[in-house]
Amino acid sequence: MITSSQRTTFESLNLIHPLQKALRHEGYEIPTAIQAETIPPALAGRDILGCAQTGTGKTAAFALPILNALAEQDSRPYPKQPQALVLAPTRELAIQIGDSFQAYGRHTRVRQAIVFGGVSQHRQVESLKSGVHLVVATPGRLLDLMSQGHIDLSHLEYFVLDEADRMMDMGFLPDLKRIIRCLPDQRQSLFFSATLPPDIVDLSQRLLADPVTVNVTPKRRSVATIRQDVLLVQKPEKFPLLEKILLDDKVDQAIVFTRTKRAANLLERKLNDRGFSAAAIHGNKSQNSRQRVLQSYRDNRLQILVATDLAARGIDVDGVTHVINYDVPNEPESYVHRIGRTGRAGAHGSAVTFVTPDQRKELQAIERLIGKKLLNSDLMEDAPKSERRGGKSDRQRSEGSKCTFSRRRTSASKSMGNVTNSQPTATQASKRSTSETATANPRQRQAKRSGFRSRSSRPRQAGKDSRGGMTTSA
Ligand code: AMP
Repeated sequence: MITSSQRTTFESLNLIHPLQKALRHEGYEIPTAIQAETIPPALAGRDILGCAQTGTGKTAAFALPILNALAEQDSRPYPKQPQALVLAPTRELAIQIGDSFQAYGRHTRVRQAIVFGGVSQHRQVESLKSGVHLVVATPGRLLDLMSQGHIDLSHLEYFVLDEADRMMDMGFLPDLKRIIRCLPDQRQSLFFSATLPPDIVDLSQRLLADPVTVNVTPKRRSVATIRQDVLLVQKPEKFPLLEKILLDDKVDQAIVFTRTKRAANLLERKLNDRGFSAAAIHGNKSQNSRQRVLQSYRDNRLQILVATDLAARGIDVDGVTHVINYDVPNEPESYVHRIGRTGRAGAHGSAVTFVTPDQRKELQAIERLIGKKLLNSDLMEDAPKSERRGGKSDRQRSEGSKCTFSRRRTSASKSMGNVTNSQPTATQASKRSTSETATANPRQRQAKRSGFRSRSSRPRQAGKDSRGGMTTSA
């Protein structure tokens, strides 16, 4: 369940009436911890360094103060000169952020454009020309449009960098630096990252001025409502085991992660051949096909998404009951991002990771990152050779009784001959509330609530308010 602040209400945050109305429409009753900690200082004009994982409600944490400011200004947007920019690592995430701005701003006159690659730039250029208050963008396409003179960031007032760690992982640092060089010094910046390794801290120091730090997800923690299990399995047994897990009644919607696009395509084919409704989503698919697949998945017309890490970030679907790591991720951070696709919006989720005996190091790196043992590593070290090769040993039989899976999965593990699983972790995990760790500096939080900082003194431009292209009246 999303961790909510016990004391704060949306009314007490002093958001304008149109936003409160939209939040009621969304069914949000109380702010999440990141929202309660971020919105007041952001409304007061402070820069924010937010350490928060996806699923904590961080999108509204930055969207609401920006919408509040833009709606209060109620100025006509300038052609090509947005007042606010949100940068996201993937197209899917950019679209979802745009959807959130649209939902929260439905009763305001704030207009936005979403800018991402893989589609024609024509509509995006048209909407920028007609003028938008807010642009949500991925770095590559944004730079393209900047270099062609379709967008000018010199009057930007509000800048958000979302999922900064993911941006770095994806090699966006050079692009980010080029974009940051074009931002005016006088601006408010909100910086969000699931983890804060040294290079991210370094980047944040370059971007932020005296920020308020809001930390609702410490580095060594996975999303609390997600049950995490590891299955020790031999490579040839992965697919039959996956099939058995998916046949479990409780698997409503699943995302299966592979390391490579090729493996994702192969798995998509095999699953469909076995009668499942599955589709692959990865960087080689066209933007339209990715959107089509995601829409079918959201509409529950598709049971299984097969995804690579690159595609994972943008998948924000509330009903994902299971994440299955068919392949252990290359980087331990990806594990946290992957499992964050389930357990969203208050739901409980389950994450199952297949680990082959030669992947002990990868598993240990994940365990170090999340600060929790997922599998008794002795099982890997001490496993008799027969067990490692798939033979059934006494030891394995006794481990079978510890299986935390449902009946069908237990029988699956038995039939696999060498499958074991971790101890239950959900109880432990659920004790850890993200709100326990909110650490905004009290001195900083006393910052006077003088309205969201506006540094622009641009005169209103008359007469250009045409609507069209990608622009949406949020
Ligand atoms: P995010 O971390 O921004 O991706 O949000 C995760 C999910 O939580 C989304 O489905 C949001 O719609 C939902 N959400 C965000 N804030 C709240 C809230 N205050 N109350 C209930 N649900 C929320």
